[in-house]
Amino acid sequence: MSLPAPLPDPLLPDPLAPARDVLRRVFGHPDFRGLQGDVITEVLAGRDALAILPTGGGKSMCYQVPALLREGVAVVVSPLIALMQDQVATLKDAGVRAGRLDSSLPPAERLDVLAALSEGMLDLLYVSPEGLMSGAGLDRLKHAKIALIAIDEAHCVSQWGHDFRPDYRSLGRLAELFPNVPRLAVTATADRETQADIRRQLKLEHARTFVASFDRPNLALAAERKANPQKRIVDLARERKGQAGIVYAGTRDSTEQIAAALENAGVRAFAYHAGLDARLREKRQHTFQNEDDVVMAATIAFGMGVDKPDVRFVIHADAPRSIEAYWQEVGRAGRDGAPADGIALYGAGDLRRTLRFIEEGTTDPAVKAAQAKKARQLFSFLDGMTCRRAGVRRYFGEENVEPCGACDVCLDPPASVDATEWAAKAISAVLRTDQRFGRARVIAHLMGRPAQNAADEAYASKTTYGIGADVDENHWKAVFDQLLFDGVLVEGGEDMRPVLQVADDEATRAIFRKEREIRIREVAKKSGRRDVDERRAVRAAKKGVTLNSSPLFTQLRAWRREKAAEQDVPPYVIFHDATLSAIADAKPKTLPDLGRISGVGEAKLKRYGAEVVALCILEGA
Ligand code: ADP
Ligand code: ZN
Repeated sequence: MSLPAPLPDPLLPDPLAPARDVLRRVFGHPDFRGLQGDVITEVLAGRDALAILPTGGGKSMCYQVPALLREGVAVVVSPLIALMQDQVATLKDAGVRAGRLDSSLPPAERLDVLAALSEGMLDLLYVSPEGLMSGAGLDRLKHAKIALIAIDEAHCVSQWGHDFRPDYRSLGRLAELFPNVPRLAVTATADRETQADIRRQLKLEHARTFVASFDRPNLALAAERKANPQKRIVDLARERKGQAGIVYAGTRDSTEQIAAALENAGVRAFAYHAGLDARLREKRQHTFQNEDDVVMAATIAFGMGVDKPDVRFVIHADAPRSIEAYWQEVGRAGRDGAPADGIALYGAGDLRRTLRFIEEGTTDPAVKAAQAKKARQLFSFLDGMTCRRAGVRRYFGEENVEPCGACDVCLDPPASVDATEWAAKAISAVLRTDQRFGRARVIAHLMGRPAQNAADEAYASKTTYGIGADVDENHWKAVFDQLLFDGVLVEGGEDMRPVLQVADDEATRAIFRKEREIRIREVAKKSGRRDVDERRAVRAAKKGVTLNSSPLFTQLRAWRREKAAEQDVPPYVIFHDATLSAIADAKPKTLPDLGRISGVGEAKLKRYGAEVVALCILEGA
């Protein structure tokens, strides 16, 4: 058993005071958030740590602040060049001596960084795992004083995660190579298995682990069954015109179609997928990253490289593969803590596609079963009737979770009906038609529609023929979807002509005996969507999780766009949306007033303060 932490002694100096001072001066934040203070205390004491903080939780502060307080250079291992470029640009803009060594760096800049390193003139050095662990990389660091080693996106080390990177495995050697340097591993997604794997692989068994809540209070989540999805996506994006967003789709073709439909509707949009020429892909990513009003219609190939904090919405045009994947993808919205939306569209076809990928992706039956289970959990979650955010948090092991009050389920609880009787009829029909029919034909059979061919004819004499004529086709679709999501039925057979089969005999018996209840959402409650969207906006405004929408905010964004273009950096490197929003709220008329706003540090105040204050004064005039 561990002893309770001693109470802080009011007479002793606060051990975190120097760190808080750096946080204020350099980064402009008034205080630490969540577990940041605890993690930083650990690292400042020279001890190893593992921190699992949700996206937007401020992981980078956990190593950037100690980097400025401990002697020497902090080495940050990161899996993607885009992430490094971004952080280095942001740090430099805040006046921090940061550099990166990666394959994209021009030789002259590379030499500059190496010179700064050997002269001890760097506070932070970003490197790729393979760059760091190469002989030359390690040689260089042998002679440098190292403040700490941070391993970003640490879940990449685990095979259980979905971003496994073999290069990460070699990072375990850092434990012996730099025994006296504190190592900090950080990540936003790691269930228990992945956490254990990180500790083992990175030799962090003894390290304290900090797991923050998976709550993302600024995310408003919603999920809808697909019905005319393309139109719905266009509507959703149009309502959010002028904001950066991502639409994830399952195939290359659909990303192209969605991008074209959005362009047609006047929304700036690009398609992004692995089939595009690499240069074009990079150009589109750059535009998305550097502007604040572009929508990317992408496959999940557009993944970890996205470190854009001001993505205001993520729409899943096709359902993701698991709750982990969902959370990681939807988590790319609102990393800056300002309000953002996650909207997932899903249908039984998505589940079929996922199960097929799993079937093709691995031969290991244990992995297959585990992945199929994850897929079903996702669909029960999407189609379920519990608060979205609470559902995710419970999935990641949090207890005593309250409903969020902001998702579609909380705002407009779906009504459900007992569908056990219909489920029994549906399964009987599948069995009576010898598990040879697809969903549409079984439904036609249940509804007693005239036979289309000889095969149908033969089954028209079965007892299940026409026993479901009392309800309509949509109702039966909902019943079959539910049975598919629950895994009672599966869609087998050839891919193009899937047939319904019974997958779970035990569940089937329980349903027949009415020992297991099947509930479905009440169908035909679609008209309320607009109201829900509106109510969400009102609720969000009340809770203060909404961005300022005044003309001053628009002017500040335009000013920011100019500054960003001058320096060829993304706008959020200058100021985040939340910071501009706070400025537009407060309309500071003096530099000290501006300096008190979260996100405005000393360097920024000096560089941009006068112009920003001038805009605020003009606005008031
Ligand atoms: P992560 O890497 O965990 O997704 P970041 O480190 O990029 O998150 O930080 C996310 C956002 O939160 C950034 O806009 C950052 O400036 C802001 N932030 C970080 N720490 C604090 C804090 N203590 N107070 C206010 N804002 C913070
Ligand atoms: Zn909720």
